[in-house]
Amino acid sequence: AFIERIRAVEEKVSAYVSVSEDLALKQAGQVDARIARGETPGSLEGIPMGLKDNICTKGMRTTCSSKMLENFVPPFEATVTERLRKAGTICLGKLNMDEFAMGSSTENSHFRFTRNPWDLACVPGGSSGGPAAAVAADEAAYSLGSDTGGSIRQPAAFCGVVGLKPTYGAVSRYGLIAYASSLDQIGPVSKDVRDNALVMNCIAGYDAKDSTSVNYGKPDYTQFLVDDIQGLRIGIPREYLGDGTDPRVAEVIRKAVGILQDLGAQVDECSLPHTEYAIPAYYLIATAECSSNLARYDGVGFGYRGGGAEDIVDMVSKTRAEGFGPEVKRRIMLGTYALSSGYYDAYYLKAQKVRTLIKGDFDRAFAEYDVLLSPVAPTPAFKFGEKSSDPLAMYLSDVCTVPVNLAGIPAITLPAGFAGVLPVGLHLMGKAFDEGTLYRVAYTFE
Ligand code: GLN
Repeated sequence: AFIERIRAVEEKVSAYVSVSEDLALKQAGQVDARIARGETPGSLEGIPMGLKDNICTKGMRTTCSSKMLENFVPPFEATVTERLRKAGTICLGKLNMDEFAMGSSTENSHFRFTRNPWDLACVPGGSSGGPAAAVAADEAAYSLGSDTGGSIRQPAAFCGVVGLKPTYGAVSRYGLIAYASSLDQIGPVSKDVRDNALVMNCIAGYDAKDSTSVNYGKPDYTQFLVDDIQGLRIGIPREYLGDGTDPRVAEVIRKAVGILQDLGAQVDECSLPHTEYAIPAYYLIATAECSSNLARYDGVGFGYRGGGAEDIVDMVSKTRAEGFGPEVKRRIMLGTYALSSGYYDAYYLKAQKVRTLIKGDFDRAFAEYDVLLSPVAPTPAFKFGEKSSDPLAMYLSDVCTVPVNLAGIPAITLPAGFAGVLPVGLHLMGKAFDEGTLYRVAYTFE
């Protein structure tokens, strides 16, 4: 059914970079065989899903939506997909994204634009535009995205689905192609909160292959789906509802707050005073880390190699000039600058100090509140081309999501209403490793 659905709508939505029909049907056959043998089904037995194309799949092309990795077939499997396969899931293919996960609209993909299923003239958000659009358009039962500064949550919000950015260290990054390693996390995108918790049950938990993985005693996340938020303390950081917030978004948030109050939650306004420095700090740290991470694409070991070079320096230079798109180059240059001698203290080190202040803001807020609530983005999905010519405007649209990655905490987005035909998302932020409380609050909206 999902393959038929992909055939029917993919021409319009373009969520996938590669569809692996044969593999999916083979895996479905294996599911049938296991059931025929009377084996106990895995927790996701027979459920068809899609993966953001920066998650390595052994033997299956993994492109990061970049010319640099257009023909890259990983010789190893990411931990998350290994766990999902063991749970019996079926992989339908790899999903489109901004090149190397850099962007907020999926317009930076080397291959194609993915369209927002609610309005084909609008972007699906980014960088996990493919994972969000595929789930919204029923081209996958769920998907995995990655979130460095909002890349799961903002597209999930734009496409009206549920997306979780887990606590840093909760889900293994082994096999996730790095953008900014101290911020990247893999997380589930799904139609509803229960599905999200079921996938999280499967992918989360300690992994010796990721040195930043934390052994935190992963709970069964479905135990939090209880429909009771009586007495829960919810804070609304006033900095997240600034002048730039679209009034239709503010209205949806206001209504959601009313519902939570009716259900017995205690909601107050609060302050995260360093919020205005989150975007500059994020775009310094993320670009600094990406400039280092992307140094490996030199045309030698794997990936694209520029042709007609005169010597090795010329080869590396041609490889990078031809293999990377404009946004990736911009960020490598920004990050290299921020890390260079003479500027390191003024930019990179300063940004790290700001990061600590932002983390302190959250620590203070979570001494008083169980959950913080905000919009996911100041506006609903925007039109193609509306922001792509103005990188700064694009960066500023990440204002509500990047502080979470800087602090390493979890956050979930769920559909809360509409602005015209476009969905508007609600953003809930929680204490480190307290995804359970986020699921609990999110579940009350279902
Ligand atoms: N939009 C942000 C960026 O461009 C976040 C991307 C992400 O989370 N991967 O960096």
